[in-house]
Amino acid sequence: MTAAEPVIDLHTHSTASDGTDTPTELVVAAREAGVDVLAITDHDTVAGWPEAEAAARHHGLVLVRGIEISTTWHHASIHLLGYLTDPDDVDLMGELTKARESRAKRLERMVALMADDGIPITYAEVLAQVAPGATPGRPHIADALIANGTIRHRDEAFREWLTNESPYYVKHYSPHPVRACELVRGAGGVPVLAHPFTRTRGETVTDALVEQMYAAGLAGLEAFHRDHGPSEVERALTLAGRLDLLVTGASDYHGAGKRNRLAEYTTTTEVFATIEAQASGATPVVRP
Ligand code: AMP
Ligand code: FE
Ligand code: FE
Ligand code: ZN
Repeated sequence: MTAAEPVIDLHTHSTASDGTDTPTELVVAAREAGVDVLAITDHDTVAGWPEAEAAARHHGLVLVRGIEISTTWHHASIHLLGYLTDPDDVDLMGELTKARESRAKRLERMVALMADDGIPITYAEVLAQVAPGATPGRPHIADALIANGTIRHRDEAFREWLTNESPYYVKHYSPHPVRACELVRGAGGVPVLAHPFTRTRGETVTDALVEQMYAAGLAGLEAFHRDHGPSEVERALTLAGRLDLLVTGASDYHGAGKRNRLAEYTTTTEVFATIEAQASGATPVVRP
């Protein structure tokens, strides 16, 4: 009998961004879900790393420290996963700080527009939903609306009020996806394009853009993801095959904030080993 393959989930969120589990709760939930290798990939921050590392050591889970960088290309919001980047890299960290500061201002603007239109929400209520030091995002507006009894689930707020097409939508600063690939590589990390063909974020990427990202160091495509139907998976696999990119799969778990379940999609041992081998080692994989 051969040993069972480890379960590898390389895309999850904690309360350091818009997940609802603390980093410790995330690690515990992953353990309970049978995950052997977990990546914590909060939006635009590494704030969850220290707690996640301590929890991973305590609970005996292999931890990959990562981020999910929001980038902008034309009118599309494109998400880039960055694995094992150096948290002391000035260029990458400076860019993430700039993005988080812009996110706070943008959320305040969105709340003002919503309140002007009669939606019962204040910025103070939204801030009460953001953990100290966490990256603020639209889901925190939804959480404030849940807390004050206006809605019951984040989904309801995202149906019209919080979409990219909503009259209340305000952009925040974010780098170009090619620049983000350079920043992740410059910080010794490994960039993987998250859910490349998600339709819910306006435009999706073109093959030409992925080629430019590849030239800037892109390592892989997250082909297997809840937001992809069979045709999106096929398109990602074809493109990955042509450019010799790695193919990953992951849950994009957000705790109670989204329906995504841990390990609903996973990454193979070989691909995980390649990601680890491509990293500079500044931020090693945590092996308790
Ligand atoms: P932001 O980072 O502020 O642009 O907000 C985008 C985030 O909202 C994404 O990372 C998703 O996690 C979250 N999101 C998008 N659609 C939904 C939804 N229908 N339900 C819950 N969360 C969502
Ligand atoms: Fe999110
Ligand atoms: Fe994402
Ligand atoms: Zn994500």
